[in-house]
Amino acid sequence: MAALQIHQIPCLQDNYGYLVHDPASGLTASIDTPDAAAIESALAERGWQLDYILNTHHHFDHAGGNLALKAKTGCVIVGSRADAARIPGIDVLVGEGDQFSLGTHQARVLETSGHTVGHICYVFDADKAAFVGDTLFSLGCGRLFEGTPAQMWTSLQKLMALPDDVRVYCAHEYTQGNGRFAVTMEPQNAALAARVAEVAALRSAGRPTVPSTIGLEKATNPFLRPASAELRATLAMPAAPDADVLGETRRRKDRF
Ligand code: ZN
Ligand code: FE
Repeated sequence: MAALQIHQIPCLQDNYGYLVHDPASGLTASIDTPDAAAIESALAERGWQLDYILNTHHHFDHAGGNLALKAKTGCVIVGSRADAARIPGIDVLVGEGDQFSLGTHQARVLETSGHTVGHICYVFDADKAAFVGDTLFSLGCGRLFEGTPAQMWTSLQKLMALPDDVRVYCAHEYTQGNGRFAVTMEPQNAALAARVAEVAALRSAGRPTVPSTIGLEKATNPFLRPASAELRATLAMPAAPDADVLGETRRRKDRF
């Protein structure tokens, strides 16, 4: 089968929109709608028609362009059953384990509450691509606006269970700021130091640090590393449950 094409669209302050396109069927989906005008011009540049919007959650920088794009294209909007009342124009309600087909390419829905209740991710398993919204960032995770640390930890573990070579398409370019915090949690983590240096080089060249991979995040992202002895020592939480370590890491990041 022809490879899934993924086009990254930097928009607003620090958001990334994504177009995913199946060349065999000609079908195109937009992952979230941070900026309708930017998404429309990306579609026009490629000669792609918008068939679907796949929303991760209801926040304005993710679903704010839904109605404008639906009015112009007649696209079908897919979103979380648990967040349906807050997703403008939603047509198809999905939850944990549901499959979405873009031609011959399949995405699997993961429920990942934490940043919001009802947040979902879309994993194209065969294509090794995960669209994670504001659940996981490179070297960070979403703020806990609605969910608990335990919910977020359950959600992050679902992403950690994916193969290491799955690419992680986050919804924001937050990596450099996240890295400044991460090194205070694990100053001896060599993989983290190498990633921070790589990120500095990418950003000074004006290039994105996203996508990352599951393997890289497991090695470097403090929010995926409650098992790390160094992180636990920094927090003085040698024996606490993983969810509590995640919660304390998140609280410290909020104050950083
Ligand atoms: Zn959000
Ligand atoms: Fe966001």
